[in-house]
Amino acid sequence: MATPSTRQGEARSTATTDRRGHDVLQSHAPATGVLLGEVPISSPEEVRGAVARARRAQEAWGLLPLAERSERVLRYRGALVDRAEEVVDLISRECGKPKQEALLHEVAPIADLTTYYAKRAGKSLARREIEMHLMKHKRAHVHYAPRGVVGIISPWNFPFSITMGDAIAALIAGNAVVVKPSEVTPLVLQKAKEIWDATGLAEDLFQVVHGYGGTGAALIDAGVDKIVFTGGVATGKRVAAMCGERLIPCTLELGGKAPLIACADADVERTARAIVFGGFANSGQICVSVERVYAHEAIHDRLLERVVGLVSELRQGDPQSASVDVGAVTFPKQLEIAEAHLRDAIGKGAELRAGGKRRAGQGMFFEPTILARCDHRMTVMTEEIFGPIVPFMKVSTEEEAIALANDSHLGLNAYVFTKDRERGGRIAERVVAGSVLVNDVLVNHACPETPFGGVKQSGIGRVHGEDALREMCEVRHVMVDRVPSLERDPIWFPYTPELLKWAFKGARALFGGGSLASKLGELL
Ligand code: NDP
Repeated sequence: MATPSTRQGEARSTATTDRRGHDVLQSHAPATGVLLGEVPISSPEEVRGAVARARRAQEAWGLLPLAERSERVLRYRGALVDRAEEVVDLISRECGKPKQEALLHEVAPIADLTTYYAKRAGKSLARREIEMHLMKHKRAHVHYAPRGVVGIISPWNFPFSITMGDAIAALIAGNAVVVKPSEVTPLVLQKAKEIWDATGLAEDLFQVVHGYGGTGAALIDAGVDKIVFTGGVATGKRVAAMCGERLIPCTLELGGKAPLIACADADVERTARAIVFGGFANSGQICVSVERVYAHEAIHDRLLERVVGLVSELRQGDPQSASVDVGAVTFPKQLEIAEAHLRDAIGKGAELRAGGKRRAGQGMFFEPTILARCDHRMTVMTEEIFGPIVPFMKVSTEEEAIALANDSHLGLNAYVFTKDRERGGRIAERVVAGSVLVNDVLVNHACPETPFGGVKQSGIGRVHGEDALREMCEVRHVMVDRVPSLERDPIWFPYTPELLKWAFKGARALFGGGSLASKLGELL
């Protein structure tokens, strides 16, 4: 029997037993409280069994030509898009996010990412010749071999796009995949698996195990060859420690505290709309949500007024309606976290300009909230919010904004708004973050070509792009002689005084400070 994490009591999904006595997770819609479905909780033995079956399936899959694997994964894309309404509907219900976001932030980016990797993988994973630096008589190349079974542990805010992006990259690279989705949103991945199986692709290649944190830990312990973890910083450290003990590589996508720098010359209308979209899409539960605004004093008041005006126009409610902008909060604990941030900020002098409370009645809704007069004594400016609150701080110079943006233990996304794109690019390079967008928000997670990931405590490694595909593989190196091999290389045994003398001469000629050495150095 799986051990529920300590979060069970406060979680929206509840553990219970079904008629046959199996432990199951029940998932309820955050907007309505309606029971959406249930999935069986996997025991550690079942997790080990899933990894063992995945390993057997991978043996044949990994031997297929890359073009063939890509073609087969594209069949999954076709089936997914054919059933897009069904998937979008479930994501919207289970997460509480508007259907437009379920389609454009989750399903469509995965269709695009699959297309990109299917087209690009041949080049990215092609055997790569290495130009030899000193030993010109050698020829070397690297090739990319699948790792085996990749374990994916994923969160509840983007249960489809985060998980499937990693899964598709791993599969195209020749691996099998076992996923442990968040206990809060288990049904979305169950649907992804149902579509995979219906596509006629080897069922054991892509498997889903369910449960709480203990099931994630069981997956790390089940003999996988790599872990891709997306979640909070604290859990990420535990996952990294477990991977360290087992010496398996892990990619960690952790929290964010994205700053938005609004320069004196920023376009007020675009910046205001970007703040509202970047702060309140998915009710602010995005690792790259706009989490703090540093607005130059020349623009601050106008920008704040416009943002407050736009927030008053937002329509919040059941995300099943296509006319709703902001849906429900997915995970109940986020309501308490939002309230704690607000209490702390207002207690220290912040001014509430919009929202500020849970919505009364059915469902888990928190009003889109704007705070002004914030500063770094407040947790709302320094700790991840992961909810619908955007705090503003007035700054006098760009230097001050950059210093404040960098005053964080996190560094995932950051944003700079200015009409001068060149200057925007220069500021962007001084902000310590995995990605910095000029005059835009959020969109980079939907670009499969660009590396996505954090610096500082926001994580280790990258997803998306060529590097992520290669990280799904072992880099293996092969070296051969360009010319027929000698019977004995001069540096092999036996060592002699003569050899040592020539070795010194050679080292001086190649690396010493003399003119011949410098000339040779230039050539090498
Ligand atoms: P958690 O860290 O609580 O959980 C992430 C996953 O890890 C869940 O599936 C969870 O299972 C599982 N887990 C929990 N404990 C363990 C353990 N000891 N060993 C292995 N797995 C475990 O994160 P949330 O689900 O609350 O997600 C929110 C966080 O994710 C935010 O901090 C957000 O910033 C971050 N995030 C980062 C992104 C990025 O790309 N950098 C993208 C999206 C979110 P269970 O749910 O059952 O506890």
